[in-house]
Amino acid sequence: MAQALTGFSAPRQVTKEAAGRARQRRPMYVAQASSFLLDSAILSLYYLAGTTDAWVAAGYAAGGTAWTALMWAASELHLTDRFKDHYLTVPQSFGSIAIQLTAVYLAPEIGFYFVSIIFIVLGFGALRMSARQASAVWTFSAVGLTFLFICTDRPIAMPMATLTERQLALLCFVTALGRCAFTGLYGSSLREMLYKRGNELEEAHARIEELAQIDELTGVLSRRYIMRALNEEVARAQRNGMSCSVAIIDLDLFKRINDGYGHPVGDEVLRSFAVSVVANIRDVDRLGRYGGEEFLVILPGLPGDQAVDVVDRIRQIVRGMNWGAIGDGLAVTMSAGVAQLRADEAPDDVLARADVALYRAKDAGRDRVIG
Ligand code: GH3
Ligand code: MG
Ligand code: MG
Repeated sequence: MAQALTGFSAPRQVTKEAAGRARQRRPMYVAQASSFLLDSAILSLYYLAGTTDAWVAAGYAAGGTAWTALMWAASELHLTDRFKDHYLTVPQSFGSIAIQLTAVYLAPEIGFYFVSIIFIVLGFGALRMSARQASAVWTFSAVGLTFLFICTDRPIAMPMATLTERQLALLCFVTALGRCAFTGLYGSSLREMLYKRGNELEEAHARIEELAQIDELTGVLSRRYIMRALNEEVARAQRNGMSCSVAIIDLDLFKRINDGYGHPVGDEVLRSFAVSVVANIRDVDRLGRYGGEEFLVILPGLPGDQAVDVVDRIRQIVRGMNWGAIGDGLAVTMSAGVAQLRADEAPDDVLARADVALYRAKDAGRDRVIG
């Protein structure tokens, strides 16, 4: 329950990733410390102009750097890694805004200055927050400001009495605007990073899809993809009223080849067989590895008798190949069952008929094609 609310999980050993995350967070603390120091410098100028006491700049610098150092130390000690948002954006924003609200209370004579910084803190933090978190931080700021503006009579001011004060107010707005622009740029860099990650993921996904399509050993379509191709070709043939045939080819007595010559020779036979089938079918035909030494050929546009002729030509080519080059005295033959797709027949049914034909070819003595 506590974990669900806070995103807190048990501490882990510092991994390479955790060290990388701590490195990622560093620029944020550097930016935050620089921002506090820049504001302290401008507050020092307000002191020199006689608007505020010296302790305002000193106190602001001390508070800001102490808060940043505390969070930075927690980051370097990997305490923040235990949280879902390892940047601790929400507590960071609460802390920074609390410092500004306190500063408005303690130095109301330049209260506008600290209020303008709340804009930057909220704008920067919201880039990493959910809508609910941003609402919580906004509510905190609104309640704090309401207290200061309504429940106290602190003279929250924007001093403009002298030229120096006008110049300092200008400096405040110009530097605040610069930080707003930086926040916007930071937001767009986050968006760009997400976009790049999205593209990388898409590329990886396409590559995985491509790899899944190909049977690693033989280079022909994998079972999954030849089945997908079968569904597509069956649907296309039925849509267009065209003929389409399928053939299941099974190498004869392949177990004997493995037993007699070894598994690597068996693999080489499978590869050479697949290459020669690919070389002897049309571009529109599809070849896939259906099982161990069983292959499925889809022959779109061909009626059964023509498909039997094509597959029988392949059988003769396979029979006539120089298998002796792979294994001394090796001979390889194949049997096949061919079936022509019937109107409204499901892919599984045409496959089943091709399978029955294959078994008839085996029963009839192998090394033949039956349609
Ligand atoms: P049949 O003529 O009746 O088809 O006999 P067969 O020996 O070819 O049939 P069986 O199904 O008994 O044996 C098929 C063999 O194919 C068994 C299996 O070890 C082998 N095999 C399956 N996949 C591979 C593979 O990727 N590489 C190799 N080398 N052998 C494989
Ligand atoms: Mg076999
Ligand atoms: Mg088999």
